[in-house]
Amino acid sequence: MYYSSGNYEAFARPQKPKDVEHKSAYIIGTGLAALTAACYLVRDGQMPGSHIHIFEKDPIPGGACDGYEFPGLGYVMRGGREMDNHFEVMWDLYRSIPSIETEGVSVLDEYYWLNKKDPNYSLMRATQNRGESAHTDNKFGLSDEAAKEIMRLFFTPDEALYDKRINEFFDDEVFESNFWMYWRTMFAFENWHSALEVKRYIQRYIHHVGGLPDFSALRFTRYNQYESMILPMVRYLEGHGVQFHYNTKVSDIRFDIQPERKLAKHIELLVGPEQAAEGIDLSENDLLFITNGGCVENAALGSQNTPAAYNTALGQGGGWDLWRRIAEQDESFGNPDKFCYDPEQTNWMSATVTTLDGRIPPYVQKICRRDPFSGKVVTGGIVTVKDSNWLLSWTFNRQPQFREQPKGQLVGWIYGLFSDRPGNYIKKPMRACTGKEICMEWLYHLGVPEAEIEEMAEHSANTIPCMMPYITAFFMPRTAGDRPDVVPEGAVNFAFIGQFAETPRDTIFTTEYSMRTGMEAVYTLLDIDRGVPEVWGSAFDIRELLKATVELRDGRKITDMDLGMMERMILKEALKKISGTEIEKLLLAYHVI
Ligand SMILES: Cc1cc2nc3c(=O)[nH]c(=O)nc-3n(C[C@H](O)[C@H](O)[C@H](O)COP(=O)(O)OP(=O)(O)OC[C@H]3O[C@@H](n4cnc5c(N)ncnc54)[C@H](O)[C@@H]3O)c2cc1C
Repeated sequence: MYYSSGNYEAFARPQKPKDVEHKSAYIIGTGLAALTAACYLVRDGQMPGSHIHIFEKDPIPGGACDGYEFPGLGYVMRGGREMDNHFEVMWDLYRSIPSIETEGVSVLDEYYWLNKKDPNYSLMRATQNRGESAHTDNKFGLSDEAAKEIMRLFFTPDEALYDKRINEFFDDEVFESNFWMYWRTMFAFENWHSALEVKRYIQRYIHHVGGLPDFSALRFTRYNQYESMILPMVRYLEGHGVQFHYNTKVSDIRFDIQPERKLAKHIELLVGPEQAAEGIDLSENDLLFITNGGCVENAALGSQNTPAAYNTALGQGGGWDLWRRIAEQDESFGNPDKFCYDPEQTNWMSATVTTLDGRIPPYVQKICRRDPFSGKVVTGGIVTVKDSNWLLSWTFNRQPQFREQPKGQLVGWIYGLFSDRPGNYIKKPMRACTGKEICMEWLYHLGVPEAEIEEMAEHSANTIPCMMPYITAFFMPRTAGDRPDVVPEGAVNFAFIGQFAETPRDTIFTTEYSMRTGMEAVYTLLDIDRGVPEVWGSAFDIRELLKATVELRDGRKITDMDLGMMERMILKEALKKISGTEIEKLLLAYHVI
């Protein structure tokens, strides 16, 4: 497997890998990583679909990428996915996956046309004082000292960031800025999470710095991501005869570990409601793709009138238990407990709110400054309630969010980063609240008169809370080797995929990360002779770096920086030296000087 960029490799079709018709594949999970692996086995590996078996513990596919109407409960989306034009693997694949909406077009076509016609941007990034603009005004509000802290992190080598937390690198100069408010709420970082991952994020999305304050950097699917992303892949795979086995847990995998050679040789399954034990022996020609860990493991739904359970016990047949059993067998298989040992550091909650009549939408419209029923961008990304104890953010994407959603209803998403603190209006922690109570807290922050809040939350909305104890497990501080490589050294017939497999430079908690691991796994194990698109290289593009430097400082030039006498003299000397050169022209063009 090798990386490439540019059109030559992007549009080339690889030749059929040797002996692929004699191979089979067993894939654990139906999340994006697993479905991507299956799609690449079919498209580029040219493996017969009937040789591919996918085991999923749940009754439906999609894993973390969800969006369903549960009978008797209502609409639920545990998350909404902010995405990027430089999700290189994602677009490499979705150009080949037919849309399930429009005949003759791909999922990429559909997404591209939609986001061209109706680009995303926000008209209200944050509120305070119950629905008033927080006047972040597209500014990062970073002091010179804060900008330097961020630059220092950017240039710190990875090794110096192993096992380090963000609050060991940033202090209140950064934490009190708009920048951090945008950042932590958009990506769901807590101050105690991994400094290494924040550095990866800054490098990975350096080309988007200017588009962060108003979300013009983002793109969204037409509907929830289960309908817009998962279903087309599942239909494509079913069309190729791929075998899906739902309600099937993989409870253990046994390996034959030799000094130079590691072979997965046996899978244990628990099948169906009766959990019947079954086993499959594997040979070198049986390729195994393992989704280890899981950010939505133990996710629990409440209802309008019941809180969501906070259950942290990790049981047999789940991604964490399986990873623990695997990790015991070889040290290159990672260290799951680094990520899942303390759910208090990794949980947060979301809630899906469905408005049932005309009373709530005007409050939404007043804040987002758009008609939520127009079918176009509504909030354009999350609106953060800056003075919320739960650090609430909420969003309404293009409506309807569900293909079958009744006219006149809106389905939106609320989330709170701190599930253990009492709310501002509901004096209970979010994790103890029913859907109705979460809705009440949200309505309070929208500015609904207090006398109307309870009645509106009860009759004008249906709100379903969701607790996710391990949602940011991947952001826990880590060191080299804590996540297994996609294909560990010496592995003959198996690969790790998903959010807890290690691939260089890309950032977790993204659809792209999971999909990338799926592609890399297939390309390595089948030795497919075509480049995997490299992670977008804007961190190595001097133009992007210059642009971002100025944007982070809200347009202020380097020459306007508050410098000491010595530094000022050095800068003056340097400017003299570059006078009349291409370097000076570049710095002027990007308003650096
Ligand atoms: C709330 C939320 C918000 C998000 N926001 C964004 C965003 O803004 N932008 C973005 O790009 N991405 C976002 N993501 C991330 C993205 O959705 C995920 O990274 C991606 O969907 C994960 O896919 P995966 O295949 O790696 O893992 P998962 O989706 O977790 O899939 C793992 C699958 O394996 C199954 N499984 C696990 N163990 C076993 C076993 N032993 N036996 C059988 N089956 C098993 C699970 O049931 C599951 O179906 C968000 C995710 C969530 C949950």
